[in-house]
Amino acid sequence: MPPICRFLAALVFTSLFHASARGAEPDLSAWPETLREEVAGILRWPFNDRTRPLPLVVAPLPADQLVSTPPPGAITLFNGKDLSAWQPSSWRIVGDAVEITPGKDYLVTRDSFGSCRLHLEWWTPPGPDLKNGQNRGNSGIFFMGQYEVQVLDSYQNITYADGQAGAVYGQHPPGVNPARPPGEWQSYDIEFIRPVFDADGRLVRPARLTVDFNGVRVQDRVLVFGPTNPPARRPYRAHAVALPLQLQNHREVVRFRNIWIVPLAD
Ligand code: MG
Repeated sequence: MPPICRFLAALVFTSLFHASARGAEPDLSAWPETLREEVAGILRWPFNDRTRPLPLVVAPLPADQLVSTPPPGAITLFNGKDLSAWQPSSWRIVGDAVEITPGKDYLVTRDSFGSCRLHLEWWTPPGPDLKNGQNRGNSGIFFMGQYEVQVLDSYQNITYADGQAGAVYGQHPPGVNPARPPGEWQSYDIEFIRPVFDADGRLVRPARLTVDFNGVRVQDRVLVFGPTNPPARRPYRAHAVALPLQLQNHREVVRFRNIWIVPLAD
């Protein structure tokens, strides 16, 4: 077969493959009509789709312009000194940060939280032979233990768009990529609005997330489809109005510091 024919055949096959992978029109009937367009926007792309366009790389806000001081009413979860706000774990304090012990447990707060504002800073190790992909400074912030804002070394790191730093994992890639190089501290300011369920466990209001990554807004009140844990998008299951916050252990070294939270009224 001439090269041009092989190229055209591969193009047709690739198009058909991705069309079938995306499947039929999603069933949106369980969602209120006012939300269907947003939900369809999430479902337009398959989970962890490697053909999804990657976010544009932009400059982060200079570190000295970022505000990291807790506001009045904030609850300090970690100020570099002790882990008393967290359940016992294998994580250890290094300098003014807390570091994952790879392959062990998540770091879980003692208290439970619903809607909140969260600030934290995170750090992934530099190195001469960093590989592309998800196993590079991967962690995450799991609101209510199940809605993840991804943490990943996303500096010159090719991986699927909805798994990059600042993604609502598997649902929303960050709008842009303002990652600093590994070895520098990165900053998150996140507003999480919890989902609401009625007495019969039906969803009344989905969760929403707003994420500022290094001072750049990368998520703006995006609708959370449901729990983000792999291997697929799943519908909501009713849960308590407040649950512990969790930091993910994804088998890689990541450090966190300066963690505070402001509970928000629903
Ligand atoms: Mg993660």
